[in-house]
Amino acid sequence: MDDLPVLGLDADDTLWENEVHFRETERRFVELMAPWADGPTTEAVLLDTERANVPITGYGVKGFVLSMVETAIAVSDGSVEPADISQVLEWGRQMLDAPVTLLPDVAATIRTLADDHRLLLITKGDLTDQRRKVDSSGLTDHFWRIEVVAEKSTHAYREVLGRHGIDPTEFVMVGNSVPSDVIPVLEVGGRAVHIPHHLTWALETATVSDIDGHEFPILDSFTELPAFLADWLHRD
Ligand SMILES: [Mg+2]
Repeated sequence: MDDLPVLGLDADDTLWENEVHFRETERRFVELMAPWADGPTTEAVLLDTERANVPITGYGVKGFVLSMVETAIAVSDGSVEPADISQVLEWGRQMLDAPVTLLPDVAATIRTLADDHRLLLITKGDLTDQRRKVDSSGLTDHFWRIEVVAEKSTHAYREVLGRHGIDPTEFVMVGNSVPSDVIPVLEVGGRAVHIPHHLTWALETATVSDIDGHEFPILDSFTELPAFLADWLHRD
């Protein structure tokens, strides 16, 4: 076991659905704000608010709820009703209670990968909610280690790899976000595989300058990973 290669896996939108819950709530929120603002205006104010709040609140549902409340007050110029705020809070509770939906064939693919890799789950965001999702995913037994970090920065990857005694040059990370799962891993000397999800939050989308000079493989689906890695990693 100790000599198996370590494979890092992202969780949200790599193993299970996440962004879809945010999009659905945002769609309802835009409707709630319709008396005061059109959709693009509400969406733009919400995104700006989230961008400003993430460094303070971290990622996840609770910060999203706070940003919706702030946005509601801003776009309604303070005239939003308490009942509307209650509705936003209720949507947040529903998101924090939503069942975990694995992406297609993830359970079988994880079992295959766990046969010849030590699986290190690295997810970012709210500790309580991320732990809940991991626990209810049914996948816990297949993970060698589970890490919840505040931000997937080069510093965070160095810290996690160092703590587990993993040589970065032997490490491969897999995930749906180029800025979180790919670029910082390449920057610490590891390798990364990008598996895009059809929904990606604007703050998780790489700009061209982020990608400049970095090369990494892109797969269509998680199910392609075992065969791809067998070729990519175990080649002499
Ligand atoms: Mg993700």
